[in-house]
Amino acid sequence: MVQIKTVGVIGAGQMGTGIAHVCALAGYDVLLHDVSADKIVAGLALIEKNLTRQVSRNIIDHEAAQAAIARIKAANELQSIATTDLAIEAATENEEVKKNIFKAMAPHLGEHTLLASNTSSISITRLASTTDRPERFIGLHFMNPVPLMKLVEVIRGIATDAPTYETAVNFARSLGKTTTNAEDFPAFIVNRILVPMINEAIYTLYEGVGTVEAIDNALKQGANHPMGPLELGDFIGLDTVLSIMNVLYEGLADSKYRPCPLLVKYVEAGWLGRKTGRGFYDYRGDTPVPTR
Ligand code: NAD
Repeated sequence: MVQIKTVGVIGAGQMGTGIAHVCALAGYDVLLHDVSADKIVAGLALIEKNLTRQVSRNIIDHEAAQAAIARIKAANELQSIATTDLAIEAATENEEVKKNIFKAMAPHLGEHTLLASNTSSISITRLASTTDRPERFIGLHFMNPVPLMKLVEVIRGIATDAPTYETAVNFARSLGKTTTNAEDFPAFIVNRILVPMINEAIYTLYEGVGTVEAIDNALKQGANHPMGPLELGDFIGLDTVLSIMNVLYEGLADSKYRPCPLLVKYVEAGWLGRKTGRGFYDYRGDTPVPTR
């Protein structure tokens, strides 16, 4: 088994920053890369803010937060990620984007480097096949927000070997997470169930069965969900929700997974949810206001 000391994170969005945060707190040295230099700077600032918030809530102490901040470094070049012990890809949910990242890293990979993807839905086997080491490639699907959510889904591609699987499970546990094993089929377990529910909530809105507030309140109060499905879609990112529906639709060839046209329209408008300030709710004021 590879001894993991350094972790490279590719993509400094919601998930990449969360993964870097928990890895640094657990004592790993972390390199954070994004195709956009601004995103790296913003990501590092966000991690510092989130660690400081954990200190103010007495979840961690000041020294632990400072040590974690010191362990995360910006990596402007993808190449520097390629020689870490474990490189975790958390870029946009788009197969071509992810494949191009793994292809670009391939010539620079360290002999021992393990590769992982945080994809929500895309085939681990297909992503692994773009590298020189499909046996040392694995799906590590963290949940959002990473510092709070306990679960990591671990997904083996067809070629993933046993030592890689064991290393990945031990690594997730070293971050204080629990793991579940999912087979490599579209959207794995969590999103196979969760995302069609969000899509169905959007159809419910599209067909005028209920308003945004009525749908979210119905599921919160009627099914004891902590967040309504439209609020949750905004939280995940509507572009990610649409990508996952497309992976399910194409990968399982079943019309029950067709993405709702209203979801497509929101994504085309760039109303992607919380991360862009607007989705099924408008987040630009003090309290979120439904957008329809
Ligand atoms: P995001 O939009 O917040 O961040 C994606 C980041 O990837 C952006 O900063 C973007 O600049 C960067 N990026 C795009 N192309 C890149 C490239 N070629 N090289 C390096 N960086 C690049 O998205 P997110 O919510 O953080 O999602 C990232 C991944 O995590 C996706 O695969 C998504 O499916 C998965 N995921 C998301 C959630 C969620 O709830 N949002 C949960 C679990 C897993």
